[in-house]
Amino acid sequence: MPDVTVLDRFLRYVTVDTRADDSSASCPSSPGQLALQKLLAGELREIGLADVDVDVDDNGYLMATIPATVARDVPTIGFVAHVDTSPEMPGVNVTPIVHRAWDGRDIVLPDDPTAILRAAEQPELAAQIGHDIVTASGTTLLGADDKAGVAAIVAAAAHLVSHPEIPHGRIRIAFTPDEEIGRGANRFDVARFGASCAYTLDGGNRGELEFESFSADVMRVTFIGFNTHPGYAKGKMVNAIKAAARFIDRLPQDRLSPETTAEYGGYVHPYQMEPSVDRTSVRVLLRDFVTAALRAQQRLVEDLAGQVARETGTRVEFDVQEQYRNMREVLDRYPDVVGKAREAIRRAGLTPIEKPIRGGTDGSRLSFMGLPTPNLFAGEHNFHSRLEWTSRQDLEAAVAVVVELAQVWAGGSKGE
Ligand SMILES: [Zn+2]
Repeated sequence: MPDVTVLDRFLRYVTVDTRADDSSASCPSSPGQLALQKLLAGELREIGLADVDVDVDDNGYLMATIPATVARDVPTIGFVAHVDTSPEMPGVNVTPIVHRAWDGRDIVLPDDPTAILRAAEQPELAAQIGHDIVTASGTTLLGADDKAGVAAIVAAAAHLVSHPEIPHGRIRIAFTPDEEIGRGANRFDVARFGASCAYTLDGGNRGELEFESFSADVMRVTFIGFNTHPGYAKGKMVNAIKAAARFIDRLPQDRLSPETTAEYGGYVHPYQMEPSVDRTSVRVLLRDFVTAALRAQQRLVEDLAGQVARETGTRVEFDVQEQYRNMREVLDRYPDVVGKAREAIRRAGLTPIEKPIRGGTDGSRLSFMGLPTPNLFAGEHNFHSRLEWTSRQDLEAAVAVVVELAQVWAGGSKGE
């Protein structure tokens, strides 16, 4: 078989429009995701993987197996990436551009000359002078999030299958839909996947290893007022919009906000509103690395809203939904899962970079569904932006880590 590089694969996958659609109830939420899954299934079969299966009728999840090359008992591990892209940015007609041996000068994207990547503003980019940088053309995202992860997994599978002398156990692969709209784990069949642990490839810089995420709830706060004709409303109207505005204004601003926190700081974040005089609801994200702290955030919201309701003569109702939990609560019980990833990153010649994810991944959910799943870098930079980029060197490093990790789990000594 001709040697297809990871970059070749990536450049092909990004041209398929897989933008997730929040307003659709179907799974996958957009038809392009299924188109990419079918293309990937074809490639995996061509590579020679066993039981390649797109769950087309039901859910659009793609699963496949790289058979073991060692006879001894080695745990089955999995690699997971998502095929959808962010609904926040156009994903149709993505035209990837490879800036070979980038010399460090500004990269002006041709379809929108105001879209400029500057080394001075982007330390991660400045560190890659001389590399083959890949961008979109200025009006769309690139889709490295997470087609970089998809390409790295397919390329690693091709490498392992064509090098049967590399010792590894059974390896499972899954490509999931709709991660960007929080549904990636919804219909993930953990039993069918049949791995003892997995790794998402959905991260940034070379060497990154993430095993802590936020714990997350979403709260709906609804103020109920009283509407009447505004011309004859004196002494009667109770405006729920004004109550909601007062509530939002009282939320902490110099702390507990996305705009004022970093690293391990949590936040309370009003992000959507449905206003009317009669009834106004505000959706508020609760986020912290300590799950118990979400209860304190909830109480804070209830206290502030309750106080405003009393002042304004409105009634207030609350609804709280769990979203996901800090994967570390699970991963701390499986130190090998993170430890072996660290070891593989070192064997690939990189330095592990460990930092908390200020968000969630499919792994945050999967870990609590019985599949401990930390996250590895795939070379995604400026995700959800028209300035999104990756590099050939990042993609190749991600492939190397997957190949090393397979061998670390097989208990082999230093990789070949
Ligand atoms: Zn992603």
